[in-house]
Amino acid sequence: MSVPSFAALSAKSILTTHATELPDPGPTQVKIRIHHCGICHSDIHLIDNDWGMSRYPLVPGHEIIGTVIETGSQVTRLKMGMVVGVGWQAGSCGTCEWCQSGQEQLCQRSQPTCVGRPGGFAHETLADERFAIPIPDGLAQAEAAPLLCAGITVYSPLSRHVPKPASVGVVGIGGLGHLAVQFASVMGHKVTALSSSADKEPQTRQLGATAFIDTSAPSAMKSAYNSLDYVLVTVSAPLDWTPYVNLLRPNGTLCFVGATGGPISIPTGLLLGRQRSVTGSNLGSPGQIAGMLALAARHSITAVSERMPLDRVNEALDRVRTNQARFRMVLDMPA
Ligand code: NAP
Ligand code: ZN
Repeated sequence: MSVPSFAALSAKSILTTHATELPDPGPTQVKIRIHHCGICHSDIHLIDNDWGMSRYPLVPGHEIIGTVIETGSQVTRLKMGMVVGVGWQAGSCGTCEWCQSGQEQLCQRSQPTCVGRPGGFAHETLADERFAIPIPDGLAQAEAAPLLCAGITVYSPLSRHVPKPASVGVVGIGGLGHLAVQFASVMGHKVTALSSSADKEPQTRQLGATAFIDTSAPSAMKSAYNSLDYVLVTVSAPLDWTPYVNLLRPNGTLCFVGATGGPISIPTGLLLGRQRSVTGSNLGSPGQIAGMLALAARHSITAVSERMPLDRVNEALDRVRTNQARFRMVLDMPA
């Protein structure tokens, strides 16, 4: 069956209308009628083939909210008509040590939602039922879509790495970053936002940040040196990371979730003396996504979104590329 979608036909191209072939759901899959899909910066990396893994035509989109309209023969958990969300991962092997221990995001046979298969910039998609997570009542669907990638990607490291109230910095206040500010705040942390866009300060404070540092001002950065326990980097471009390591107190951690590209060059002396760590984090498991959605529903955490219809997708992508989105672009599919 052919489904209307928007696709990039080559690296860095604009998206054009595309008829995507979608097979019937496999035994453990569901077919989803998509209502909304957020635009993650990873979609831009994929369109541009920044990671050398893109295949064209490429239908991006992995922050999907929609309704189950067909179920495979072995689907047990999901029913027709349920509202579900799908993030970056649409399937995994189910048998490796990572899948068996509830860390499916580490499966070496993970199936990304929009690499080698059509993603969410389309009217319908397919996902394994384990990766189609029911959306709790009370969450606005369009604004909840970005939780499926941006939300889980920041919730997962915050919940694993920072178990006790701490001073947390969030670098880059975009799609991931503005959700990190909200999650870190309701987790009881003192949140410092670090941004290269001074105009983001008022909204970022409203979302829960108690301090805001303009990263383009070296003196503002220096005044915060040695003050934070945990710094979560959500930017999508390489920076000089030395000042960010200097923000950390003894035993502090700099965690990368942004696909910044390029090597991370840090003088070893800055790590040894104060026992600082540098680490990374990848998405989150279906179990963690369910936990994150429950916390989001309890505290009314959703993305601050700018919505556009699917046929304005290129305009929406431009707003992400030029860092104009406040804070997440969300595409609405035709009813
Ligand atoms: P986004 O909405 O475009 O936000 C990125 C933010 O980074 C921007 O708003 C900007 O914040 C800052 N930034 C961008 N370019 C910069 C530059 N040249 N210098 C300084 N700051 C810059 O992107 P996103 O959707 O949040 O995604 C962020 C990154 O996370 C992407 O690389 C994406 O691929 C990655 N990601 C990783 C995972 C994972 O599992 N690890 C999952 C999802 C996404 P300010 O204006 O506040 O400075
Ligand atoms: Zn993403």
